[in-house]
Amino acid sequence: MTEAELLVSECRAVVDHAIELADLTPGRTGNLSVRGEPGGDGGSDSGPGNAFAITPTGVPYDAFDPGDVPVVDIGTEGGQLAGEMTPSSEVPMHTAIYRREDVGAIVHTHSPWATALAVANEPLPPIHYMIVAVGKSVPVAEYAPYGTDDLAANIVAAMDEADSTAALIENHGLVVTAPDLPTALENTHHVESLARLYLETKSAGLEPQTLSDEQLETVLEQFESYGQ
Ligand SMILES: [Zn+2]
Repeated sequence: MTEAELLVSECRAVVDHAIELADLTPGRTGNLSVRGEPGGDGGSDSGPGNAFAITPTGVPYDAFDPGDVPVVDIGTEGGQLAGEMTPSSEVPMHTAIYRREDVGAIVHTHSPWATALAVANEPLPPIHYMIVAVGKSVPVAEYAPYGTDDLAANIVAAMDEADSTAALIENHGLVVTAPDLPTALENTHHVESLARLYLETKSAGLEPQTLSDEQLETVLEQFESYGQ
């Protein structure tokens, strides 16, 4: 079985969730991707999957079917393995992040409040306990042209340094990684709402207070025991 045939459920997930980008980002500027399972059905590979399904470029979020969804190789070629439509123009960023990070899904938006921070080159500090969904802060990745490997390298470097699963992209937008797509989308909403909270507090002439490292560690412990 080919890698593309193994990504049926991932292509379906892209179709099912793409419409959620409409609430997060202007026009068609958002994109999301889901990585295939390691080895897939009956596969013997261990480690992360070698391909991902991603939103197509230039079509409305609700105007494509699973068979249209581009499936892209994470290996050295980086080529399209399946799907009737052309992948998002930011596919190199997704490919490069999957090459560097063991994550299952990526959401990229130009959501306005997060992007306002990105435009100001201002990281999001821990002003609210919900930030631990992505880390203790959201860093800003240094600007590079969209769709380049340099940009992906800057994003991964910023995430690694801040130990965060999200990064603002300087003068560009936001990227969030997660083990699965629903979590990546939920965390994108968290970062966007926290960016708004931060900026609206500042706009009111007030100074946002931040949580201490100790307070954040306590929240992380609470989160780890939540839902069990
Ligand atoms: Zn973008």
